[in-house]
Amino acid sequence: MDDRLLATLLGTLAADRGLWDDFNALCDHGGRLAGSASEAAARDWALSRLAATGGRCWLEHVPYAAWRAGACALALADGTPLACQPLLGSAATPTTEAGLLLEVIDLGRGDPEAFALHAAEIPGKAVLVRHEYPFMAGHLHRRRKYDAARAAGAAAFIIASTEPGGSPTSGSSGRAGGSGIPALATDLPSAARIIAQDTPRVWLSVQGEDYPGDAATPMLDLPGADPDAPGRIVLSAHLDGHPLAESAMDNGSGVAVTIALARAVAPLMAHARHGLRVALFTAEEWALSGSREWLARMAPAQRGHLLLNLNLDTVGADARLTALTSGFAGLEPFVTQTTRAIGLPVACHRPLMANSDHANFAAHGIPALRLVAGFDRPRSGVRHILTAQDTRDQVAPAELKSAALVAGALLWRALGAGEAEVAGWGRRAQA
Ligand SMILES: [Zn+2]
Repeated sequence: MDDRLLATLLGTLAADRGLWDDFNALCDHGGRLAGSASEAAARDWALSRLAATGGRCWLEHVPYAAWRAGACALALADGTPLACQPLLGSAATPTTEAGLLLEVIDLGRGDPEAFALHAAEIPGKAVLVRHEYPFMAGHLHRRRKYDAARAAGAAAFIIASTEPGGSPTSGSSGRAGGSGIPALATDLPSAARIIAQDTPRVWLSVQGEDYPGDAATPMLDLPGADPDAPGRIVLSAHLDGHPLAESAMDNGSGVAVTIALARAVAPLMAHARHGLRVALFTAEEWALSGSREWLARMAPAQRGHLLLNLNLDTVGADARLTALTSGFAGLEPFVTQTTRAIGLPVACHRPLMANSDHANFAAHGIPALRLVAGFDRPRSGVRHILTAQDTRDQVAPAELKSAALVAGALLWRALGAGEAEVAGWGRRAQA
């Protein structure tokens, strides 16, 4: 496509003061936990921002297994209270007054070797593992540790922060209304006090209620030059977050950039080969439920029109962006050439990382990538996602602007990609 239009688009994005204002407006809505009043208000606001582009907007409704937190408590055997945050969807403990008194087995990081080594000692105990920086090669996801604890017969799952001064790290248990074990997060000093006891034991109590949730997703559709051409590039970001703070990095940053891209590209769509679909998913923090259900309910022919998913999740708090290319080797030249050409080169990480909505597109064979900040940079501000420190002061305006330029260039090239290039994106890595 026309390079002058790319320059126009990037110029518009660079000058867009609405990007920073939108980011702050999202943070003003609070943590946006799916199902909360905070999320509902942010959703209405976001829909109005998408509507301002002049395109067709609506809310797409899909069900998900939702859960409302009740009281949660963690204490040493002598009753000393500890820091405690239930994981989303945690199974409840029996409603006795003090909860369960459980022996604790410390499995360190919680890797498969530790679970195998201590398999005989785990049944009936609370398993203690550590949270780890999520954006590293070889990262072991919280839900894999939870699943291992459950499979080994643990009575409960405790995941501790390793960040001095950090809060417990929120996240999903992935239970989704099924069976499971009580699961909660705690902080570094609390974990130290647990294991310092002669016989590590805790009182543990988690209450909560399952209910049928409605993942209402703001959508925008902007056709390309041919209004009847069905092909769509899907630009996505999840709007929901966690109740501990402002969910600023994760994912106020991605949503603000997505809205800015929609605003900037809308006037240029008459020059685009493919149409654009913008999806502001919710219930992403619930083990990626919202986008999974949306894709699962779509007719296969409809899904076949989705040519690429460009997913923006946590694109601030570090200056370096990485493209997680979900096993699609064919996306790598697209990313490296496009970003190098605008002087903002982005590296690729090929193995599938099922840590955001792009993974659900990839599962249907749709080429999908996530742009993320702070990959392999565990001391970046990104380490505070899912904690009480996920606030707007972690993100610099220049980081958001640079993410908008990178994502804008990728989006524009994707919107103009010819048949051969589109077909090439789907090439998987050689085994
Ligand atoms: Zn996220």
